[in-house]
Amino acid sequence: MVSTTAASLRALETARQCAMLGARHRTISFITQLTPGYISRAVYCKQYPPPIGRPKYSEDFLFKTTRRLQAEASLLAAHYRRLTGDGFRPADALITAYRHHRTTHPASELHFDQAFFMVSRLDGIWAANKSVLSFVECHSCHSTYLAAHGMAQRENCPACRTDWQAPSRRRNATKLLRGPTPALPAPAKAEQHEPWQLDLDIAHVRLLRRLEELGAGHRVRAVLAEKHWATLFRASRGRRTVTSAHLTRPMSLTHWSAKTEVTHRVQYAVFAAHFRRLVQLDLTLVEAMCAAVEEMRKVCHGYPKPVAFDRCFEVAALLDALWGVPTRQFELVRCPECDSHHLVSKLEARPMGCPFCMLIKRHRVLLPAPTNTRASAEVT
Ligand SMILES: [Zn+2]
Ligand SMILES: [Zn+2]
Repeated sequence: MVSTTAASLRALETARQCAMLGARHRTISFITQLTPGYISRAVYCKQYPPPIGRPKYSEDFLFKTTRRLQAEASLLAAHYRRLTGDGFRPADALITAYRHHRTTHPASELHFDQAFFMVSRLDGIWAANKSVLSFVECHSCHSTYLAAHGMAQRENCPACRTDWQAPSRRRNATKLLRGPTPALPAPAKAEQHEPWQLDLDIAHVRLLRRLEELGAGHRVRAVLAEKHWATLFRASRGRRTVTSAHLTRPMSLTHWSAKTEVTHRVQYAVFAAHFRRLVQLDLTLVEAMCAAVEEMRKVCHGYPKPVAFDRCFEVAALLDALWGVPTRQFELVRCPECDSHHLVSKLEARPMGCPFCMLIKRHRVLLPAPTNTRASAEVT
């Protein structure tokens, strides 16, 4: 189970980027703090399989490798530093800098894990508990390069000493170089890939967060997100349907218009009309719920008593016989006077008239603030 905080959504999205850039399990674990079990289970997929072998965390990588790689690493580090200086979080800065590096140096042999370890040692984060690298400026070319603290040798600038025109070893020996430093996986082909668990989880967390932001209660969220335990909900006493189990007091259908405030009936009507239209446009029920509530809140902005998300859920269930409601309990009826649609309960013997017409007549009382008359004009 993945939690739905902003931080966990960010961790999932970061893990996704890392997997696409060829990061190893341990690197993703350091950067995202996701559990090893979760990373093994969900972060890699057919298209982005886990790289084989241990991560290339070498403390003297920068000093033992080719000049060209040293120069590339320093360029990447300088880019990373500019981004963190601009307020980017280290993970985003590393991913952006590495991606930029792959674009500008397509033949590069610098692995994401190496860049990660270098940045760790530069800032004393993730895999390093203190900073041991710093930037040195070259006197001749004025580029910055990385050196161990206190060991700066200014004539050692890798940028000056690299022949950038010479082909890299990778280009000379592409056949030998499959394996430990694979080229980034090619983008998805037209063929159907099985869904990436990480993508499903990200979409799921986004959905739950959207529902939370719209004020959905936890039980309604569980039903809409199709949590398997939502099937265990039971209807409250005296109610036949599971829908009312999510709410403390179910709406009275025999006296619905009499017991529901006019401004609430207006909001439910606006919501219901949008919901119907969106479902007909083939949105999923949960997308239609969210979008219709958002639309209704826009239209009815500034109403003194906004209706709750869970009540809209109940209205949608009763309108279209959804989520355990066996038959339709509401109708959307067109008003001949103002031409708008409002809800009528089928069980109510003498429903009150159109709430939009009532709102127009009594808007000074019903919507006291002067700015609110605009909303009523819009919905009619
Ligand atoms: Zn130089
Ligand atoms: Zn009317």
